[in-house]
Amino acid sequence: MAAVLKIGKAEYDAMRAHGEETYPHECCGVMLGLVGEDGNTVAELIRAGNTRTDSAHNRYHIDPSELIKAQREGRRKGLDIVGFYHSHPDHPAQWSQTDFAEAHWFGCSYVITAVAQGKAEVTNSFGLRGTSDDGKRFEDERIDVV
Ligand SMILES: [Zn+2]
Repeated sequence: MAAVLKIGKAEYDAMRAHGEETYPHECCGVMLGLVGEDGNTVAELIRAGNTRTDSAHNRYHIDPSELIKAQREGRRKGLDIVGFYHSHPDHPAQWSQTDFAEAHWFGCSYVITAVAQGKAEVTNSFGLRGTSDDGKRFEDERIDVV
């Protein structure tokens, strides 16, 4: 059974709007929330600056210090990092080899929004499964906007 990513309408819209704002570059951010049995629930988004200035249109990178800050903020609110989001300017909402190689947070949801000509289109979520980099895989997740 596929996992479900639950996200509020406001957060869902904000995530997609972020991708439109940074177009033609990728946006990225951290999702704070709760881990549940059937999937993750997003409570809050934290925007991150894309530190990948060499080719910000096809890869993203969240600064480790921003990650630590997000983690700290989450802990204060009783939330965990449940995933990451980024945009694919003029590319489909499917993970790339780079996305896969750079994904290390097992149990987290990796959300990708396709932004075509500056307009957010399809948004997909992929759950990172496995326990080590050798056996890891992305699994399609259903997004429930609540
Ligand atoms: Zn990507």
